[in-house]
Amino acid sequence: MYREMLIQLLPYAVENEVTSYIMLKAKNYDFLRSLYPQLPSHYAYTVCQDAVERVKGFLRKKRRGLTKKDYPEVKNISIWLDEKLFRLGYAFIRIATHRGWVEVPLETHKHYWRYRNSWELAKYHARIKLDKRERRLTVYLVFKRDVGEYKPKNWISIDVNEDNVTALIDYTPIIFETGQKRITLGYYYRRKRVQEKWDKKLGPKNRVKKRIFEKFHERDRKRDIRSKLAKIIVVEAKKRRAGIVLEKLPKNAPKRMLEKIRDRQLRHRIHQSAFIGIQKAIEEKAREYDVPVIKVSPKNTSRICPIHNALVVYDGRFGVCTVGGEVWHRDVLAVWNLYLRALQGDGGFALSSGGFSLDGSPVPLGSTATSEAVWIEKSRWLRWNSLPPPYKTKR
Ligand SMILES: [Zn+2]
Repeated sequence: MYREMLIQLLPYAVENEVTSYIMLKAKNYDFLRSLYPQLPSHYAYTVCQDAVERVKGFLRKKRRGLTKKDYPEVKNISIWLDEKLFRLGYAFIRIATHRGWVEVPLETHKHYWRYRNSWELAKYHARIKLDKRERRLTVYLVFKRDVGEYKPKNWISIDVNEDNVTALIDYTPIIFETGQKRITLGYYYRRKRVQEKWDKKLGPKNRVKKRIFEKFHERDRKRDIRSKLAKIIVVEAKKRRAGIVLEKLPKNAPKRMLEKIRDRQLRHRIHQSAFIGIQKAIEEKAREYDVPVIKVSPKNTSRICPIHNALVVYDGRFGVCTVGGEVWHRDVLAVWNLYLRALQGDGGFALSSGGFSLDGSPVPLGSTATSEAVWIEKSRWLRWNSLPPPYKTKR
């Protein structure tokens, strides 16, 4: 019945480009109710929500020319339930059906209890999937937490690079070396060597190769590095009640970072591992710690000197401001610009004539800004849980 209702709704929604749940429901409620009067009325609501999500996704694809179909296909169905359609006990779920309430015992996942005890059930979300062959229901519950996200008093901006992550903390740029490039390259060549050797002996689908790859633990090591660094940064932000500023990445092209790498496969791999991964890890940790995150456009962040509003001309990682003549490290320049962009986008902060100010106190952005950067080798920060107080190390 749910499937039928969904299938009936979708063509209407697509033809009329209805992407509002309210609209869809208003126009179709009576029809849906007349289709299956024995079903509890709230199914007419949830099927509309479901349909709207599907239609939105479909129209997006269509606009990009990614689909030739006229309507979204209905392959997988999970039935959406709102708060009127289910009751959750500790070890059972009760679902409203056309035959009244049906109680189903729950076989719980280990995460279930963790969330069940500390989080509230979101008002509108539970989805169930019917597995006819196994005579089973899979229940997806959406939990929500009252997010204690604070209004940030300041920002920590982050610039993710091929080989380091630079953070601007208390107006001091801190460069965390990640060695991601070396790790990625190292693994890449090791894999290639193994592949060539065993493919020649056993053909391309051999198991020996696979087993050796598994021993590399490439993924684990990278994940470890990422989450460790993300935690250090997020904890520092939380301590200061600061928000985190990340670059808004274009979907498939972190160009600035990859422009120098010619090898296509290699570009792909570095892109995958180093860049997106670290951003995601930071976002995840931030969510966990209720630290707000904003994303700003990275356009020109490593090109324009914020003091003189002038072009910076590079020779390698270092560049010279064409007006002031001061030297900038590319990544340091980037975090300063990201930071300032966050202030501007924040609305609450005005630009004063002497430069930028935050809460009335001037941002110490002077010609010394570039030389103040702190470099931290990976071997050091990997052992930390947070930044040690003076966080000064040799360059
Ligand atoms: Zn300058």
